[in-house]
Amino acid sequence: MSRSVRFVDYPLQFAQMEGEILGTIRETLRGGDLILRRQTEAFEANLAAFCGTRYAVGLSNCTDALHLALRAAGIGAGDEVITSSHTFVATAAAIVHAGARPVLVEVGADHNVDPSAIAEAITPRTRAIIPVSLNGRCCDLPRIKAIADRNDLILIEDSAQALGASVAGKKAGSWGLAGCFSFYPAKLLGAYGDAGALVTDDADLAERVRLLRNHGRTPDGRIALWSFNCRIDNLQAALLDVKLRHLPAWLARRRAIAAIYHAELSVLPMLVLPPPPVEDGERYDVYQNYEIEAPDRDGLVSHLKASGVDTLLPWGGKAVHEFADLHLGEFHLPRTERIMRSSLMLPMFPELQDDEVRYVARAVRSFYC
Ligand SMILES: *Cc1c(COP(=O)(O)O)cnc(C)c1O
Repeated sequence: MSRSVRFVDYPLQFAQMEGEILGTIRETLRGGDLILRRQTEAFEANLAAFCGTRYAVGLSNCTDALHLALRAAGIGAGDEVITSSHTFVATAAAIVHAGARPVLVEVGADHNVDPSAIAEAITPRTRAIIPVSLNGRCCDLPRIKAIADRNDLILIEDSAQALGASVAGKKAGSWGLAGCFSFYPAKLLGAYGDAGALVTDDADLAERVRLLRNHGRTPDGRIALWSFNCRIDNLQAALLDVKLRHLPAWLARRRAIAAIYHAELSVLPMLVLPPPPVEDGERYDVYQNYEIEAPDRDGLVSHLKASGVDTLLPWGGKAVHEFADLHLGEFHLPRTERIMRSSLMLPMFPELQDDEVRYVARAVRSFYC
């Protein structure tokens, strides 16, 4: 049987909600609601409620959310910010744009930052930690928060891949001073273009980020400081608000797909799989990606391609410190580097059918057996 399974299928999701989407576009455009209007406010209120925080601020993307969070927290020249290297370059770029220095540390077995490595990297210049909750699984945020508190460091979460995930009963994005989300189309909640948000319980921080996103303009029209234009697009906010209502069901579906992958692939001892979904209330992983470690990774990728299955290498196969032009060669992170050589991501999106998931798993098994 030959078939094809795409890595992600945007038109398929659109087809399922075409009426809702086009109706919202029509209503928003008929109202002339284009920049920071009631749709943005409604989305911000609903997003904050979903994340369990007091405030949400809609922004242009997650990179800007991280950048503005760091600036609003007063981090800049001479400061060090600790994060992992198994992340999108944007995490480190935001630190550099704020004027600070990224300090990249190792990840653990679940590909999330290793809390002990954070603790070891703290110097007198360290001001903040940005844990990246990768692939829809929260970092060990209870331990990381304890490290931050003990050392008087600011905690900003890169929760771009973890909207709706939780650990110890608390959602991604709600653990520190701020959490930053991406609504890039392939993310758990995807816009029809770029968008992002910052969530926080801190009223001052929320106000400062609102100022920073809009040229430093105060509500009464003063310009309080030199700033940027990092506003969320109001039309995207309107559409994200509609899609947010579907998010819990989409996350549950991602978990069901992960459970099938786990059942079908855990028979292969040579693979390293993500932890399977658990129902114990301690963790709620939402599987932004299904990233596995596989021997002869490149051979497997070719085999899957020949079987009609699209896969993706995390960050194109390189950790942040491995991009030579960024001059981060001082970092040596053997575990991260090994993971980059051996990892690939299998198709994972809510519209995947069970038989497609099983087809992918069978194609993986046929490479090794
Ligand atoms: C997608 C992503 C970002 C960047 O988000 P944008 O909205 O594209 O700026 C940052 N960090 C991580 C971990 C991501 O996955």
